[in-house]
Amino acid sequence: MTDQTPAQTAVGTPITQDVLTIPRRLPDAARVNIVGLTRDQLRAALVEAGTPEKQAKMRVGQIWQWVYYWGVRDFAAMTNLAKDYRALLADRFEIALPEVVSRQVSADGTRKYLVRIAGGHEVEVVYIPEEGRGTLCVSSQVGCTLTCSFCHTGTQKLVRNLTAGEIVGQVMLARDDLGEWPAVGTGSTGDRLVSNIVLMGMGEPLYNFENVRDAMRVVMDGEGIGLGRRRITLSTSGIVPEIARTAEEIGCQLAISFHATTDEVRDRLVPVNRKWNIETLLAALRDYPKLSNSERITFEYVMLKDVNDSDADARRLVKLIQGIPAKINLIPFNEWPGAPYQRSDWERIEAFADIIYKAGYASPIRTPRGEDIMAACGQLKSATERARKSRAAIAAEAGL
Ligand code: SAH
Ligand code: SF4
Repeated sequence: MTDQTPAQTAVGTPITQDVLTIPRRLPDAARVNIVGLTRDQLRAALVEAGTPEKQAKMRVGQIWQWVYYWGVRDFAAMTNLAKDYRALLADRFEIALPEVVSRQVSADGTRKYLVRIAGGHEVEVVYIPEEGRGTLCVSSQVGCTLTCSFCHTGTQKLVRNLTAGEIVGQVMLARDDLGEWPAVGTGSTGDRLVSNIVLMGMGEPLYNFENVRDAMRVVMDGEGIGLGRRRITLSTSGIVPEIARTAEEIGCQLAISFHATTDEVRDRLVPVNRKWNIETLLAALRDYPKLSNSERITFEYVMLKDVNDSDADARRLVKLIQGIPAKINLIPFNEWPGAPYQRSDWERIEAFADIIYKAGYASPIRTPRGEDIMAACGQLKSATERARKSRAAIAAEAGL
């Protein structure tokens, strides 16, 4: 064994160095991040690191609880594991989250985190406290490949998919900030501050299916963070081939960015409609509740002045979704600098909501949250970009 080769002292007397007893810390890049691994992946990684096969399942259970139930980040604190084993874990693994670059708190309590992930990219995570619940809006990609014309994220190129660890990490860092992990040994988590998750941040989650699925499985696991599948809502612009898979492999609630009642208008607003049009999308949605055993599908509908907000639109919408257990979420358009649309007038939004309500559907109007910190739907990342631009402008003015 090369590690036990006798070493030479300065005077040439051979000595035996038992370097194996001194755990060598691998450089960070070589350590495996536990966050975001599924149970099977963690098991395989532990075996690979030398955990005996027979113990692997039990070790997964123990580590899982430390990381996801208690929120522990330090292997040394995992007191039901032998000391040597903790040292081995520290040598081979890490428990790492994306770095929080900035945190803004809105007058209404909404918190927006700008987080940095590997490669120096940044994404945003938004926490929205409400009466009796708290919703975390999580990003799935840096930018987006789709180009919905009303969405600010859509004006940014896709940089890359987030890993499962980066998605789970967003949930964990919000719990850190909110002080939500239970004190070790108390057993009680108390009231849930992050009680719901919506995949409505940056990116199209169904174009990053495997990572989103694995991340949600980690978050849903009952021995860890333990958020049930009904507390998770995935929002998609309508990637039809992945919708059945979402039902079968995740089973969460589904929200659809519907936004228009004719293909002509939807082609312009949500260009992926040219690939899977309204009829194809609705056919996939009709099967979703049965496949996923979930309740209603949420139809998201952004209210754009004189584009999709007429009474005729409201009536067509109701007709189109007939037979699908649904809730319609009306989103007043959140403007961003240079946006080619305007928000519908409030009376128009109410009249539209009324037609839907009278047809028997819940039609809540989503109150824009965190507008003062640009944390509302479709605005993510824009504040950061503006900040960058202004810094650049300042530098230019100063002749730097
Ligand atoms: N890519 C996914 C999820 C992220 S967007 C999707 O499109 O569904 C979350 C929701 O915000 C979607 O319904 C999206 O259409 C909507 N949205 C995007 N930009 C918006 C804006 N400027 N104002 C209001 N809603 C917007
Ligand atoms: Fe992408 Fe969703 Fe924005 Fe469309 S609305 S560009 S799918 S993030």
